[in-house]
Amino acid sequence: MTQIALITGANKGIGLATARALGLLGMTVLVGARDESRGQAAAKELAGEGLDARFVRLDVTDQSTIEAAVDLVTAEFGRLDILVNNAGILRADGTAEPSATIVATIHEVFETNVYGVVAVTNAFLPLLRQAPAARIVNVSSEVGSITSLTDPASPLYVLTSVPYPASKAALNMITAMYAKELRDTPIKVNAANPGYTRTDFNQNSGFRTPEQAAAVNVELATLPADGPSGVL
Ligand code: NDP
Repeated sequence: MTQIALITGANKGIGLATARALGLLGMTVLVGARDESRGQAAAKELAGEGLDARFVRLDVTDQSTIEAAVDLVTAEFGRLDILVNNAGILRADGTAEPSATIVATIHEVFETNVYGVVAVTNAFLPLLRQAPAARIVNVSSEVGSITSLTDPASPLYVLTSVPYPASKAALNMITAMYAKELRDTPIKVNAANPGYTRTDFNQNSGFRTPEQAAAVNVELATLPADGPSGVL
């Protein structure tokens, strides 16, 4: 049975590389993207490489597009085997210094990186339950580790921006709670740490390739039945 995988924010960067890698494993990949032309172009690129890739419009902050995506997957496939919650945004401003914009910035980042993941996961859970052994991968980050960010010996100690690290720390906890909630099902939920990766996210300053980052997501998306759930 061909596996069906949906990747959010799959029109570029780590999401596109993850879609390609899962497609190369023979899966049908649903290229989630908030922008129709960017998403269509990415799906076309993958299809041109011989992969079964289809664009699905999905803005993780827009419930109507989430519901339309669920309807589409329900009608076409009746189940979802893999959900990669990859869409994410970075706002480097917003230090702990008092400022007029910090709350708005935290709100904006949490809308995509946290509430978006919950909204998409909850909407797709009925379809994930229809799969024999679904996998959910939440693309997190090492900057979501409270231990790393508060350890003076850690290279991450220098980070002072609040919104993004806080969003990934929240995502890690959400991942653990979903894994606990679903522990009596075949569904596994894990958080991926792709490492510092060369994408538009960081003006291509990362030292890992999107392919290397995607490999982390793919490993968690294809965990065997005795694999972990609820880990970073
Ligand atoms: P990119 O900026 O290259 O890609 C981000 C993707 O998310 C784009 O496709 C973007 O779409 C999409 N996106 C943003 N907001 C939404 C939304 N509301 N709905 C749907 N899609 C959305 O970043 P990366 O590929 O580097 O990042 C992917 C994930 O990996 C993120 O969650 C990030 O936090 C995480 N990560 C990245 C690291 C890195 O070093 N690059 C390190 C650790 C984690 P659009 O093109 O329309 O903007």
